[in-house]
Amino acid sequence: MPRPIVATIHVDSMKHNLARAKANAPGAKAWGVLKANGYGHGLERAMRGFADADGLALVEVDYAVRLREMGWNKPILLLEGYFDPADLETMADYGLQAAVHCNEQLEWLEAAQADLSARGVQFDLHLKMNSGMNRLGFMPDAYAAAHARLSAMSCVGSITMITHFANADDAEHPLLPIAEQVRRFELGTAGLAGSRSLSNSAGVLMHQKTLRNDWIRPGIMLYGGSPGGATAESFGLQPCMTLSSEIIGIQNIVAGDVVGYGSRFQAEGPMRIGVVACGYADGYPRSAPMGTPALVDGVRTRLVGRVSMDMLTVDLTDLPSARVGSKVTLWGQGMPIDEVATAAGTIGYELMCALAQRVPVVEG
Ligand SMILES: *Cc1c(COP(=O)(O)O)cnc(C)c1O
Repeated sequence: MPRPIVATIHVDSMKHNLARAKANAPGAKAWGVLKANGYGHGLERAMRGFADADGLALVEVDYAVRLREMGWNKPILLLEGYFDPADLETMADYGLQAAVHCNEQLEWLEAAQADLSARGVQFDLHLKMNSGMNRLGFMPDAYAAAHARLSAMSCVGSITMITHFANADDAEHPLLPIAEQVRRFELGTAGLAGSRSLSNSAGVLMHQKTLRNDWIRPGIMLYGGSPGGATAESFGLQPCMTLSSEIIGIQNIVAGDVVGYGSRFQAEGPMRIGVVACGYADGYPRSAPMGTPALVDGVRTRLVGRVSMDMLTVDLTDLPSARVGSKVTLWGQGMPIDEVATAAGTIGYELMCALAQRVPVVEG
């Protein structure tokens, strides 16, 4: 028997969540964001789950090529653009769209444009504005000039105007509220014609009434994770990854006994400790503290002691029927990944993406 840990991917829930995103942005087209191996769910599964998307968006050029090879024939967008001039060839060969966020990317394109145009290549590009996040993009006052440089090239087809929000889950953010990023975006794009794309999941879920998008870019919500602000369930989302395992050992301990590395947990009375075949080498966060929730046979209990590489320990004292072989749900259906993430001081995104290679994946 293989080690009992397994990740179950719920492809139908991806379809459900995509429909939620589309319902929240009537009239807008939707990119299904599936960077990072579909946020850990598998590229091919995400491609199937997002079959109804108008396009797929990611950052990995090789994965974009794989999407084409697997038969995706709608648009594909490289969210970080091309990383060197050679990527322009890949874009031409596989019909990829790309973000353009810096002068270097403009220069590579200008250098290649005569050759590209001669071959009849036209790229649909997405000019990115840095509206305050200070990650990628042109400053608002440099945006129109970059737009003009793109427009002047015959190898450029459509130009979509895009930006990315730092705090779409926190409208009242004291330093960079979403309204301020929108203000800068409007300023920088004033007078420019073309499609617009602003909203990530938080924008789609919390600001759909105020943001005008021709294309939305939901990611985390499609996998049933919350982008913040409220629970995934309250947004009508369904989890797409359930990480489960089994109890593989039980220890009956008494007051004063300690559990795990560092002996960080000491029993105050008699306890039953369940040992679960799941550890940080499976992608479970080592930072998950005592008290982090988990389900045993569908009943909520808590972690005790430190997470180790291949095992973690849970409190079975109030679960007398639990035994070796009892099913444990670490996150997913019945146990929101965001609750586990919050307990561990991180976000659901990171847990999904960190699912380890050694964990077998099934669909269900
Ligand atoms: C990852 C990403 C998204 C999706 O963000 P979520 O918070 O997962 O919805 C959207 N746009 C860009 C540019 C991204 O890199």
